[in-house]
Amino acid sequence: MTDNNINTELVVIGAGPGGYPAAFHAADLGINVTLIDSREYPGGVCNYEGCIPSKALLHISKLIDEASNASSLGITYKNPDIDLNTLRKWKNEVIKKLTSGLGQLSKFRKVNYIQGYAQFLDSNNLVIHKDDEELTLNYKKAVIATGSSPANIPGIEIDNKTIMDSTGALEIEDIPKSLLIVGGGYIGLELGTVYQALGTEVTVVEMMDSLMTGADQDLVRVLKKRLTSKFKSILLNTRVEIIEKQKGRIKATFKTNKDESIEEMFDKVLVSVGRKPNSQNIGLENTNVKINDRGFIEINDKRQTDDPNIYAIGDVAGDPMLAHKATYEGKIVVEIIAGKNVIYDPYAIPAVVFTDPEIAWCGVTEEEAKEKGLDYTSTRFNWAASGRATTLDRNDGLTKLIIDNKTQRILGMGIVGVGAGEMIAEGVHAIEMGATASDLKLTIHPHPTLTETIMEAAELFFGSSTHVYRKKQ
Ligand code: FAD
Repeated sequence: MTDNNINTELVVIGAGPGGYPAAFHAADLGINVTLIDSREYPGGVCNYEGCIPSKALLHISKLIDEASNASSLGITYKNPDIDLNTLRKWKNEVIKKLTSGLGQLSKFRKVNYIQGYAQFLDSNNLVIHKDDEELTLNYKKAVIATGSSPANIPGIEIDNKTIMDSTGALEIEDIPKSLLIVGGGYIGLELGTVYQALGTEVTVVEMMDSLMTGADQDLVRVLKKRLTSKFKSILLNTRVEIIEKQKGRIKATFKTNKDESIEEMFDKVLVSVGRKPNSQNIGLENTNVKINDRGFIEINDKRQTDDPNIYAIGDVAGDPMLAHKATYEGKIVVEIIAGKNVIYDPYAIPAVVFTDPEIAWCGVTEEEAKEKGLDYTSTRFNWAASGRATTLDRNDGLTKLIIDNKTQRILGMGIVGVGAGEMIAEGVHAIEMGATASDLKLTIHPHPTLTETIMEAAELFFGSSTHVYRKKQ
């Protein structure tokens, strides 16, 4: 018989990359912890319909793209034969492998994992809707890690058949001949890269004057150049006005900032205009937790809400909505609950866009440095001068550093190029350790690797970098 009344020291609601590391760490510290999620296994959006499936598909698009570009290197492959069933099966196996593995880790640690939907009754109790039954749970402390869901444009109905959000697009039901992507942020561009490699004509519409508005535009330009050669078109300063279904297709009407109207037909549409926090329908009105006007839960530097028993982490607790930020918060919040004297104070949270080429940055961007009036120098090492980039036939890259003029400390790093996402960890480490331009310059980087571009970008701060010739003044 199920016990319908559970007592727990700590409850974590939501088992995404914020919630499950929090629960696992709590168990490791000897805290009696219950983890609740509506899915069978832990993993959250990231593992089921976010980071992991999108990167699995991007791996496939990389294989296709590299094979199709190999003819200039003397190897010509036939056009790929794409078996969508096998492709989907592989992607789903990746998800299953990771999430069921998390289920095992949860069991080994004796985390009480409950599959169900939780709602607060008050500051010490919640109800869990589980199949046909309701469980009540009494807790001392709670961590809300309910994540986020795709945002939508009013008037556009997502059916995940012809009009999709990111979750529907990741299913790859078929390979449409044409796809309209509404929104030029990282999710739209990553999924556009996948569909384009599979053979779809991709059009991106963005209402702002640039793609990837959070990133420095000198990095974005390199990506945009390649995407322009791959996608059918990228329309900036353009707003989607109407999306209508017509005989199984989609008629889209756009308005440019010059007030011109454009009509075009597509097979499918992907709406990727951001994400909204899951702070509704979880019973917050029965607690003292406050949310701000964007729907994010308000927290302090200890991740504590206005209700002393309740903490919040991850996407539901504010930007940046990224898995690794959620995980970091998850571990910190448990240490705080366990009584340790720690706060959340990262200097550098990396952001990676897994397009081709990738863009990655951390610390201050150049735009932020300008806005804040920082006394800085930015150095740029162009990958045209990188031996490793040349061996990869991918000189389309740039590594840049934002360096404090007085202290020479590294304030920010930005990279565009293949593998930028793996390289950016060096920048995060440098910033967190308070490294200076000399530290990066004097650190021996392995040859031939793309990481040498970081060393040479640091050398440029001192006016002399091996592979960049500058005329003597
Ligand atoms: P989530 O992962 O959203 O998990 C929350 C969980 O809580 C969900 O399982 C949900 O079902 C559950 N839940 C919600 N309410 C309740 C309730 N009341 N009761 C029980 N369970 C509940 N980030 C990166 O860092 N790198 C990437 O490459 C990346 N790629 C992405 C690609 C896509 C297509 C998308 C959509 C997102 C991507 N993200 C990426 C963002 C990343 O997925 C999120 O930042 C991350 O998942 C947030 O983690 P979280 O723990 O806050 O919540």
